[in-house]
Amino acid sequence: MAVAYIQRLMMKLMRPWIGTCEETEARLSDHLEAGLAPEQERRVRRHLAWCPGCRRLYESLVRTVVRVRALARDDEGAPAPSVVAAVTERIRHESG
Ligand SMILES: [Zn+2]
Repeated sequence: MAVAYIQRLMMKLMRPWIGTCEETEARLSDHLEAGLAPEQERRVRRHLAWCPGCRRLYESLVRTVVRVRALARDDEGAPAPSVVAAVTERIRHESG
């Protein structure tokens, strides 16, 4: 489809500014925890603005983390960082 082709071409041209999907996926959990350096943070934001695939991944990650935190509040304290990493991995696996 032409739109998808143009989208891919634009992302290729803009790679120096928006980074790759792999790079963005690896940083999503840090982005969520506001744990990124300002320049990395900007790259992730720009990438998410351009990439529907990573945006979907990010949105499911946000929904999951919100649910996990709600559960953790009922239980005790916040989930360990490894929980967030495991959830990211599972979502990535499911979304293929
Ligand atoms: Zn992407």
